[in-house]
Amino acid sequence: EIILEMKAVSKTFPGVKALDNVDFMLRKGEIHALMGENGAGKSTLVKVITGVYEKDSGFIDLDGRSIHFRSPQEAQNSGIGTVYQEITLCPNLTVAENLFTGRGRSPFIQWKKMNDKAARLLDSLGIPASPVQELTSCSLAVQQMIAIARAVDMDCKILILDEPTSSLDEDEVKKLFHLMGELKARGVGIIFITHFLEQVYEISDRITVLRNGKQIGEYETSSLPQIELISKMMGKDLDDVTK
Ligand code: ADP
Ligand code: MG
Ligand code: MG
Repeated sequence: EIILEMKAVSKTFPGVKALDNVDFMLRKGEIHALMGENGAGKSTLVKVITGVYEKDSGFIDLDGRSIHFRSPQEAQNSGIGTVYQEITLCPNLTVAENLFTGRGRSPFIQWKKMNDKAARLLDSLGIPASPVQELTSCSLAVQQMIAIARAVDMDCKILILDEPTSSLDEDEVKKLFHLMGELKARGVGIIFITHFLEQVYEISDRITVLRNGKQIGEYETSSLPQIELISKMMGKDLDDVTK
């Protein structure tokens, strides 16, 4: 079941065609990796979906209906959560405050109620953090997971993770993948941007490769060509895409 479909989308910035006639499809409960060397257009692709940028041409359908978001907030309200590599949480707030504040809810939410709700959410997602601890006392991986939990609590059916593993160690990547698997089981479709092919083989169902703004291939992971071939397609050395 296709939940998001992009057809012939183009986006030009002064002097560079960031997206050139790009097709992309995301299915329910699928982890779909988006790969390509730096500057290939990966972030632009997700930004035209979430309304950070306006596309020049093409079509984007969400659940079979044409969409045109004018802001990430609109996208979030329609169930598309985005977590960027640069964590956009507040370091000096607690975990629970980071989960629930700034979302247009009543400012009079009770401390205890908020913490209880946070505890249930963290627990249901297997995130090792306490609601009352300060965000900065959590590891980067846990902070990343808290940003994801925040999106999940806002009922996202699509989760976009732009290079979520780049500052994580091996152990932390494992925890993040566990959480992604949990969300996948709930039917969330995940767009997973990464530079590392081994991670794609480990967790993704499908991969789309971008190069110079063009979509140059879409594969099911079970039938993926050799790592060497994909790295060549991306225009990269094998060393750059494996860890
Ligand atoms: P990736 O995420 O794959 O590294 P990006 O989507 O960030 O690639 O960038 C694709 C191309 O578009 C690059 O050449 C980049 O310099 C350019 N680009 C991205 N955003 C902007 C912008 N806001 N203004 C001008 N050029 C941009
Ligand atoms: Mg980049
Ligand atoms: Mg990027």
